[in-house]
Amino acid sequence: MKIADILNTGKRTLSFEVFPPKTSDKFDTVREATEKIAALRPSYMSVTFGAGGNGARYTLPIAANIEQKFEVPVVHHLTCVGSTFENIDERLIFMRMVGVENVLALRGDMPDGAAPEAWDFHHADELAKHIKAKGDFCIGGAAYPEKHPEAPSLEDDIRVLRLKEEAGCEYFTTQLFFDNNLFYDFLEKVRAAGVTVPIVAGIMPVTSVKQISRIFGLSHSKSSPELDAAIEKYELDPDSFRKAGIDFAKKQIADIYAHGIRNVHLYTMNNAELAADIKNTFGSED
Ligand code: FAD
Repeated sequence: MKIADILNTGKRTLSFEVFPPKTSDKFDTVREATEKIAALRPSYMSVTFGAGGNGARYTLPIAANIEQKFEVPVVHHLTCVGSTFENIDERLIFMRMVGVENVLALRGDMPDGAAPEAWDFHHADELAKHIKAKGDFCIGGAAYPEKHPEAPSLEDDIRVLRLKEEAGCEYFTTQLFFDNNLFYDFLEKVRAAGVTVPIVAGIMPVTSVKQISRIFGLSHSKSSPELDAAIEKYELDPDSFRKAGIDFAKKQIADIYAHGIRNVHLYTMNNAELAADIKNTFGSED
């Protein structure tokens, strides 16, 4: 089933993101975790893809397993940095052969020492356009409520969303954020700029002190006073920290739904227990 069709029903959705193993020895552990998450029957799931091919080998097997065994619609992330037209076309053939019909079209992070002049793709909109011309995939893209770190301004980054929509993106999933007001302001600006497709709010529960610097470093998202207070209060108490982090994410999600925004995507970090907790709290209307 196409993700755009699910999002366009207007019903509330709750989807889950998982990541594949980097090496074969971890395959079964990750497969089992993703199966537990699929058994919760989220609206759909998405499977990440390592930029430049690193950590990308097992995206399709994990995605195909979810789709075939659980009939949960699945999104295959696909990055294009350093890829050739041929690499991308090969991936699309494999996806089509196993019934994966949803792709999140991404550029991926720029590798050190990159030589983009020689690449077939430079930005996600080029990838979206290429996929669109290749067949009947539903294409999504990434959006950044606090702007992509390389973008000169939020307005410039929102202009890029228009380009991605014109190239074939039928929805966007946002980078994780901790301040809902930034997301609501972003939505207003995006709509004013003429972007019409659904925007899915990306939420990541922070469950351990260890995760924090990595999360902020990778996402470039700002913290919020409430999250900062929890971090400070429970820094030395992992169980209370975990509970406070999950409670904070639940409050974010409840507030998003209360604002009439129907679509939330949870960065589960392959944690089935966490996914179950959130699913049991909010369910979904589909
Ligand atoms: P783009 O849309 O190409 O944007 C990158 C930068 O270029 C932005 O600053 C943008 O403003 C600018 N830009 C874009 N198009 C143009 C244009 N035509 N002309 C001029 N400037 C332009 N990474 C992974 O490696 N694997 C994953 O599975 C993965 N999943 C993700 C899922 C989500 C929901 C999100 C939000 C991010 C994900 N990422 C993933 C991270 C992503 O690959 C990085 O943030 C990357 O740096 C940018 O990818 P993009 O698709 O947003 O790129």
